[in-house]
Amino acid sequence: MEKLKTNTRLSKRVQKIKPSGIRRFFDLASKMDNIISLGVGEPDFVTPWNIREASISSLERGFTAYSANAGILELRKEISAYMERRFAVSYDPESEILVTVGASEAIDIGMRAILDEGDEVIIVEPSFVSYVPLVQMAGGVPVSIGTNKQNQFKVSAKQIEAAVSDRTKAIMLCFPNNPTGATMTGEEMKEIAAVVEKHDLLVFSDEIYAELSYDEDHVSFASLPNMKERTILISGFSKSFAMTGWRLGFVLAPPDLLAAMLKLHQYSLMCAPSMAQYGALEALKSGMDDLERMKQSYKQRRNYIVKSFTEIGLPCHNPGGAFYAFPSIGRTGLTSEQFAEKLLLDERVAVVPGHVFGEGGEGHIRCSYATSMDNLEQSVERIDRLLKRFS
Ligand code: PMP
Repeated sequence: MEKLKTNTRLSKRVQKIKPSGIRRFFDLASKMDNIISLGVGEPDFVTPWNIREASISSLERGFTAYSANAGILELRKEISAYMERRFAVSYDPESEILVTVGASEAIDIGMRAILDEGDEVIIVEPSFVSYVPLVQMAGGVPVSIGTNKQNQFKVSAKQIEAAVSDRTKAIMLCFPNNPTGATMTGEEMKEIAAVVEKHDLLVFSDEIYAELSYDEDHVSFASLPNMKERTILISGFSKSFAMTGWRLGFVLAPPDLLAAMLKLHQYSLMCAPSMAQYGALEALKSGMDDLERMKQSYKQRRNYIVKSFTEIGLPCHNPGGAFYAFPSIGRTGLTSEQFAEKLLLDERVAVVPGHVFGEGGEGHIRCSYATSMDNLEQSVERIDRLLKRFS
């Protein structure tokens, strides 16, 4: 409270927000040499050439102006067809699709569109680090519920129901999950859908890793009976098409919710970058083979890392999607922060301590396996060396 009084230049709302726990760690790692990083959550592939070429060509043809606020109509039509084809959800390009500056913007404007001061959003943790601050910045109150490795980091309908209060407005789901890699089946999600209906809630379904589901086909939350009208479906190009730097995502929602988000988007961003939208259009038209190639490569690395971690005595549940392993470091007796720091300083491997992802994260580390096999093999050796010093 003292701090809030002293800095009157900043809003109380912003001062309440904690800096990301990931940052401190990467600042430390950036000052060291010979680091292998399993830290960053992004593909190690360069965006496929035809996507880059389409974007370059749009510039050559002089398409450098603002697009429609909601995004180029042709792209929205392609997104609609793609989502129908891949995930059996049907969205009208004119009134239910908005192209955003990354999935990040979609989460932000989604929260700002639905929350009044004090409204609660249930966040299933461990979770992507932006959810809690974005709820807070929108004036809402995050209510965390934790998942754990005993339940393969899945959330149950019962857990959600126990967290519902008369201020609950929405729940935030993300499967496949960052940081745990957990996935959920359609049947499991139907139980959650029943709670959503019973308590008249909205759902943010962050499905940015949908294409990176290795063992079972991804089921979109919006495809469940009666859920489309309650779901803000978030996705994007960053992970599936290796386009993190392009800053391009999209949000699909019923017309009233979409119109509210469009209002926020239009006043703060105007539109997503036009050249990135032309690249994304090409990604959807002809990028599926590249996507499949990258997916198979992640899957191979997933299999390697889970097997290797288990062999060196680092218990690791099998992540069904995304590109993260989330092994338990419990047996070392260290906190995840202590373990990650020791691993960085002694063995020069950068991982993210699990506690930064919220409830249920302590006792784990997040290892992104979107890096070369050579880096993965060396990391396993180095982690093994560190673990042996504990046994
Ligand atoms: N959601 C999740 C679960 C993520 O992991 C990320 C990126 N790390 C994002 C959203 C943001 O993606 P974008 O690059 O599209 O903003």
